[in-house]
Amino acid sequence: MTCAETRRQLPEPEPARLAQVEEHLALCPPCRGEQEALREVDRRIEQLGQHRLRLADKVLDAALQGGVLPLDRPAPLALQRMRRALWLGAAVFGVLCLFLMLWSFFRLR
Ligand SMILES: [Zn+2]
Repeated sequence: MTCAETRRQLPEPEPARLAQVEEHLALCPPCRGEQEALREVDRRIEQLGQHRLRLADKVLDAALQGGVLPLDRPAPLALQRMRRALWLGAAVFGVLCLFLMLWSFFRLR
């Protein structure tokens, strides 16, 4: 296996090529260095991801505690239903008033 072929398999070789990669790495210090460098990049990316997750957790917590995000409160849905019921009531009342007006209008003639 050449250096180029080996490096394409780094940092985590395919299972089918693992033996060949390990054989090459045992004999080639530059490729071993490359593997270690790539593993270090992997570790740092993972650390960055964990750092970002912790940050996102804090932001979410702060938002929930500050009432910015209403995720834990079902009240807005109840409020929506109440508003809808009020509008429906108002509409029914309006139609009823119109009906009574027309009825009394034609009856008094
Ligand atoms: Zn090599």
